[in-house]
Amino acid sequence: MNGIISDIISMSVNDGPGIRTSVYLKGCPLRCAWCHNPEMQVPSPQAMVLSSRCTHCGACFACPSGARGEKGEYDSSRCTGCGLCVSVCPAEACRVVGASMSAGEVLRRVLPDKPFFRLRGGVTISGGEPLLQADFVLELASLLRKNGIGVILETCGYAPWQAMEPLLPLIGCFLYDWKITDPSAHQRWTGVDNRLIYENLKALCGRGADVVLRCPVIPGVNDTLSHFQGIAELAGALPGIRQVDLLPYHALGNDKRMQLGLKRDGFDPPSGETVLKWYRQLSSICPVPVML
Ligand code: SF4
Ligand code: SF4
Ligand code: SF4
Repeated sequence: MNGIISDIISMSVNDGPGIRTSVYLKGCPLRCAWCHNPEMQVPSPQAMVLSSRCTHCGACFACPSGARGEKGEYDSSRCTGCGLCVSVCPAEACRVVGASMSAGEVLRRVLPDKPFFRLRGGVTISGGEPLLQADFVLELASLLRKNGIGVILETCGYAPWQAMEPLLPLIGCFLYDWKITDPSAHQRWTGVDNRLIYENLKALCGRGADVVLRCPVIPGVNDTLSHFQGIAELAGALPGIRQVDLLPYHALGNDKRMQLGLKRDGFDPPSGETVLKWYRQLSSICPVPVML
């Protein structure tokens, strides 16, 4: 079986313990307003155009799906990922994100990194939302484990329980997003409400999974005491949650939004002082360690 892979990044130190190789799967059922990986939302391959390199030569304006306009504008929602613009662009301004790969091909990319994993490292399967390709994740995780490689899954939690449950014996730790405590605010800012996410989290913890709660904090969206109290209550109620990661908003997604022909997300990164204030507020009420 093949999956659609956005990227494979070696020597990652931000996606779990030790040195890791992160495998990013394309496609996500959420549409978070602050998304830092907008190129991973759509499940199929898509072109990205780096306008700073574009010389407006016009060669790609013959795009068969009309995604490129005559003035160089780009509508990624029309892109089929055919790759024509990549092959004709003399400035190397275009690239297609998303390639079909088998689990065996991913393993072959990962194996040279294995000596660096030592005891704590391994592979983190991330996205997008990897469970949108649940059968592929199951096959890939099984293959990695058979080859002596530990696997962590990073998930937004919005998937049928039937997609998550078979992974329990294979996944060493779930990096589980908890974005907004209030269900209607969650719906407004991400496009879905959080009831399924909560039920899956409860079920995972009930089955003894090791969980790190990943909490992006976005100014004006969820930087509220009531949300921090919600995080602390969850961490107190569900024994599987051993750590909370506080992830302050950063603007890196905006460069990628530009390359997809989208507008900026409109958020401003918080100051260091604000981040410290959030950290102190959350740590003072949270029963498990909070990491920045
Ligand atoms: S890959 Fe390039 S040429 Fe092909 S549909 Fe997308 S924008 Fe058009
Ligand atoms: S082919 Fe490359 S340089 Fe020419 S218009 Fe398209 S993106 Fe710009
Ligand atoms: S869950 Fe992650 S990848 Fe999906 S829209 Fe939200 S931030 Fe983007």
